Amino acid sequence: MNYDKNNIFAKILRGEIPCTKVFENEYSLAFKDISPQAKIHILVIPKGAYTDIDDFYTKASEKEIISFSNAVKEVLKLTGVSQQSGGNGFRAIANTGSDGIQEVPHFHLHILGGENLGLRGLRKS
Ligand code: AMP
Repeated sequence: MNYDKNNIFAKILRGEIPCTKVFENEYSLAFKDISPQAKIHILVIPKGAYTDIDDFYTKASEKEIISFSNAVKEVLKLTGVSQQSGGNGFRAIANTGSDGIQEVPHFHLHILGGENLGLRGLRKS
């Protein structure tokens, strides 16, 4: 899949539309989902132009991958969902491609938590 420079997360990265930022480092950004499916619903994205998780892990540099992992770790800590810091856990989801029903074609990892999630995030109604 070709990267669409006009996708909504590319616009957020260019500062053309706002987001509620939770964390940022050199190669990654985390912000609140605009339509939260749980008390905590954060999206972590790389700043580079990657369509999905597969594209990212295939093409991203080691620096970008480490930066992304660190951003995920910080978000888990900052939101209090990390079991490493006394939280109750979370769900991390990367919807990918047509079978994964991915809507925004810029790689993003959903972090859902803050309450018992049941099956939330695992199926779309
Ligand atoms: P997906 O179906 O995995 O592609 O999820 C896309 C997610 O992006 C959905 O959960 C949307 O609520 C979220 N979203 C769409 N537009 C925005 C926006 N402007 N700011 C924050 N989250 C957004």
